[in-house]
Amino acid sequence: MPRAHNFNAGPAALPTEALQQANDELLNLNGTSMSVMELSHRSDDYEAIHNEAISLLKELLAVPDSHDILFLQGGASLQFAMLPMNFLTNGQPNYILTGSWSEKALEEAKLLTSPKVGGSTKEVDYRRIPNFSELNISDDDDYVHITSNNTIYGTQWKSFPEVIHSPLIADMSSDIMSRPLPVDQFDLIYAGAQKNLGPSGVTIAIVRKSLYERIPDNTPTLMRYDTHAKKNSLYHTPPTFSIYMLKNVLQWIKTNKGLEGMEKRNQAKASLLYETMDESDGFYKGHAEKESRSTMNVTFNLPSEELNKAFLRGAEEKGFIGLNGHRSVGGCRASIYNAVTLESCEALRDYMKTFQKNNR
Ligand SMILES: *Cc1c(COP(=O)(O)O)cnc(C)c1O
Repeated sequence: MPRAHNFNAGPAALPTEALQQANDELLNLNGTSMSVMELSHRSDDYEAIHNEAISLLKELLAVPDSHDILFLQGGASLQFAMLPMNFLTNGQPNYILTGSWSEKALEEAKLLTSPKVGGSTKEVDYRRIPNFSELNISDDDDYVHITSNNTIYGTQWKSFPEVIHSPLIADMSSDIMSRPLPVDQFDLIYAGAQKNLGPSGVTIAIVRKSLYERIPDNTPTLMRYDTHAKKNSLYHTPPTFSIYMLKNVLQWIKTNKGLEGMEKRNQAKASLLYETMDESDGFYKGHAEKESRSTMNVTFNLPSEELNKAFLRGAEEKGFIGLNGHRSVGGCRASIYNAVTLESCEALRDYMKTFQKNNR
């Protein structure tokens, strides 16, 4: 069965091997004669899967013992709310705005306090990541929040600000596990799984344990990070199938040389598309400035809205999935997360070249 050239922004392509494993095990997981979805979340068979997913994350990301790995629900969007519910001290967290998702995180914090905006590239239509020198970070920020990859605009932080006195928190929903990561530089990393890690339904949080002491007593139980930490993310029923798929995806990453392997693979894929844009004499115009280009979401426009539409229509006819830009910005976007193959990117490059030849 051939697989689609899937450039969806999320939920997105998953590794065929991870899906095949689920297919093989669907009716009989590990000799239980049951599907993973039918197991009790308190059973040994499920707990083995749960703990393996945690230990693979710990191993692949080299998570230090100072941090917990949590499985939460509610997507990255619930994290936008949980951060200010858990970690305000003076009342002023600091949000660096690099796109729509960082704006949404800020809006959620505004419901509880008066956050500060310590940097923004909104005035240049989020075409780039700010330089460190442009950031206004101070010692008494409750925390500093960044978005490591801007799914909609196609920009990505290449290195991360050194924040000494305040916790550094990052939404990594659309590029976690795409490259090696200095986890220790962060106090909290979170990511919805459905871009790079697995199906929707589970959200990963990697939390420095020393943050728990900040959590106010009146925080609702399920909204407290330490509730989940104390119970190994089994305080209540976790999204068991999503965690099982996450485990399969992590095994695939491990087999494919871990995060170094992913980074190499992703750079090769992204270069194919960016080179095609750069060699197109301005026919394909990237949204992101070169130094801020994302290896995960490649955003571009053709010379007119008409050509954008014709390009997308032709792509659809050729079986390419998900190339429209986000409804808020338009244009075209190829999301090339870990599981998207080099072959899919080559096929897209070939289509881009042919389309340009036929339409200039
Ligand atoms: C997709 C995405 C979100 C929203 O995730 P949900 O799981 O739908 O809440 C948040 N931040 C970033 C960077 C994203 O890419």
